Amino acid sequence: MNPLFWYPPAETRISPKSFIDALLGKNHDFEKDLCSYLGIESCILGNSGRAMMTLLLRALKTADTSNRDEVLIPAYTCYSVAASVARAGLKIRVYDLDPETFHPDVFSLKQQAGDRTLAIVAQHLFGIPSPLDELKEAAEDARAYLIEDAAQALGGTLKGKHVGTIGDFGFFSFGRGKTLPLGHGGALVAKDPETVRKIAFPGRAGKGYGGLFTSMATRLLSNKRLYGIMEALPLGLGETVFDPGFEISPMREMTGRLGSAALHELDRSNTHRRMISGFYSSILYNYGIVPVPDGACPTYARFPLMSDGAGIPDELRRLGVRRMYPRALADEPAIRKFFADDKAAAPGATRIAERLVTLPTHSGISAEVAETIAERIKDGLTCRR
Ligand SMILES: *Cc1c(COP(=O)(O)O)cnc(C)c1O
Repeated sequence: MNPLFWYPPAETRISPKSFIDALLGKNHDFEKDLCSYLGIESCILGNSGRAMMTLLLRALKTADTSNRDEVLIPAYTCYSVAASVARAGLKIRVYDLDPETFHPDVFSLKQQAGDRTLAIVAQHLFGIPSPLDELKEAAEDARAYLIEDAAQALGGTLKGKHVGTIGDFGFFSFGRGKTLPLGHGGALVAKDPETVRKIAFPGRAGKGYGGLFTSMATRLLSNKRLYGIMEALPLGLGETVFDPGFEISPMREMTGRLGSAALHELDRSNTHRRMISGFYSSILYNYGIVPVPDGACPTYARFPLMSDGAGIPDELRRLGVRRMYPRALADEPAIRKFFADDKAAAPGATRIAERLVTLPTHSGISAEVAETIAERIKDGLTCRR
């Protein structure tokens, strides 16, 4: 491998043509295009996944008449899910995950759901669809809503249905590193659109030329010859921070235009992600691979692998291998402050946080690079040149 190359962990691999179409195109209706892709009637677009989740939770809380003020979320997840709950003025409760499958720990789920639970969040982490039966059952028992966090899973299906459209509500993200990486943006879908019809955005949308420009620049710099420079700049790339003070506004016009222009690229890109993941699976079959449930079609935003917990050597970092969220939610003091239960523990999630490494799957990773990454990992995650 050329030692000067740096493979980015995520890539805004949207074609130049789509950027041009976004800039020059006149008519666009991303809402309509996305709905038709997902096979649903309606959806709401905003500036991020976390904004959509916050607006949804606020709407559910307003309509609630039984003093429910807790949201039950996975104990290992994106910090912005926790931030959305905090931003909506609700309390966080976590259910543990099985560190081998990343599926909910059913015992923990049953124990944590109750009559204060407003909603339960399911997640399709890395775009690997998670079976929803147990979560549905827990939500029904607690009379809570089931929200699917499909932020990394746009294009993935479970038994022929698009993930994100199976629970009562679902949301998607178009941020960097997601399957349709427009730069920012989010979408909310609802089984019963009445519940979310009254959602009003506090902020104004804006044109979003700046955002489009940033996306284009990121696209250009996400190149193996240039990405080393990006890494060296203090941009905070890939950092995970908990911040409930995020902006909430409608989707910017340019983001919507880019979405309309680039949506047709999604399936091809997801096929590439599955192919690269196939290479990883075939070489690393006796390592800690996360299973794909029967009847599921994953999007593999990244390829997860449980390691021995030693650090990631520079050579693998240069190939785009990274950890994910640094800690389980319960182990992050700033997040714990918003917990409903101050004695909460989730050992499965803590183990995931300590051992998980994720491999890149985007279109900048060729079969040859994937093979190199897998072979280096086989050498024990310690191989240095
Ligand atoms: C990115 C992400 C979110 C939040 O989406 P934003 O658009 O960044 O707000 C939520 N959950 C998961 C699993 C994510 O990966």
